[in-house]
Amino acid sequence: MQPQPKQRILNAPVYKPGKPIDDVKREYGLTDVIKLASNENPYGSSPKVQEAITAQLQNLSLYPDGASQQLRWELADFLGVKPGQLIFGNGSDENLLMISRAFLEEGTNTVMAQPTFSQYRSNAIIEGAELIEVPLKDGVHDLDAMAAAIDDKTRVVWVCNPNNPSGTIVTAAQLEAFLEKVPQQVLVVMDEAYYEYVVDADYPQTVPMLAKYPNLIILRTFSKIYGLAALRVGYGIASEELIAKLEHVREPFNTGTLGQIAARVALQDQEFVTYCRERNREGMKQFTDRFDQWGLHYYPSQTNFILVDLKLDSDEVFTKLLSKGIIVRSGNALGHPGFQRITIGTREQNEVILQALEEILASAGK
Ligand SMILES: *Cc1c(COP(=O)(O)O)cnc(C)c1O
Repeated sequence: MQPQPKQRILNAPVYKPGKPIDDVKREYGLTDVIKLASNENPYGSSPKVQEAITAQLQNLSLYPDGASQQLRWELADFLGVKPGQLIFGNGSDENLLMISRAFLEEGTNTVMAQPTFSQYRSNAIIEGAELIEVPLKDGVHDLDAMAAAIDDKTRVVWVCNPNNPSGTIVTAAQLEAFLEKVPQQVLVVMDEAYYEYVVDADYPQTVPMLAKYPNLIILRTFSKIYGLAALRVGYGIASEELIAKLEHVREPFNTGTLGQIAARVALQDQEFVTYCRERNREGMKQFTDRFDQWGLHYYPSQTNFILVDLKLDSDEVFTKLLSKGIIVRSGNALGHPGFQRITIGTREQNEVILQALEEILASAGK
């Protein structure tokens, strides 16, 4: 008899990340590989980050500041909130986990879109909560149906805005109407991992909504536009009371010294953020212009990725692209068979993948 874990954890899928560049180089004998699979920033991170990290390298024997004080003050100032309204996680992933750990258990349920970011579901399974998954409507969260799905066992509702994998947003008006309907004892999580990429004026500014809706928590991250995915720093913004509750489940040293310093420096370099947002919109247009020309359906995206319907077997296209040294995300794994999710790269990278797609479509007689 082998050691047995809690049986329900075996129902939680093991996360399948975007294929690493080195694996593809080895498997296909390639030297040049482009990874546009995990919504990473193709422009790297602020050039000032490396210098700041190097200066910290003498301090590796010391535990990090568990409370992330410096980062907390600077970020609170940047956002116009109190320092006690912030919680830091080892990436947004850990904030999602802490919320689930604190609020979900057997006998409760949790409401989310389908398809949406995979971790809401896995964490809920691990905590033994019942899943209520509400299909997207034209790629967008169906907030009316989600509000209607809430019952007296509901503890948490997840709103991924913009949504991963569709890239779509719910508007400020839609969100306000939704929040008015959600009972006060139900926590609403706004996962805004792509917040800084959004250019649509109808996108809700949620920080000012915190005063009106104490059951709201906003999650953002340094992994996406700030380009610090390797260093794992995400943060939650909520009322001080809500944050204090989450602190009970936070690991003592969950963000590292290098991540904290990198985040502080990256935050100060908003010029880099603006640069990336603008280049990203140009890259997005590169894709949508071509997709329009080819008559392909895609979801309007406010992120740094696009979900496009090639109407071809997703895993086959994925493998063909791999053999050409291009890594994307197969729609099969994202609840969108026939689609591919492509991260917007540099202009040159985008051109390479568009060429490859054109060849694949041509050979499929499309
Ligand atoms: C990438 C992503 C995350 C996780 O980000 P980390 O901060 O790197 O853990 C969370 N939510 C969504 C929607 C994402 O796309």
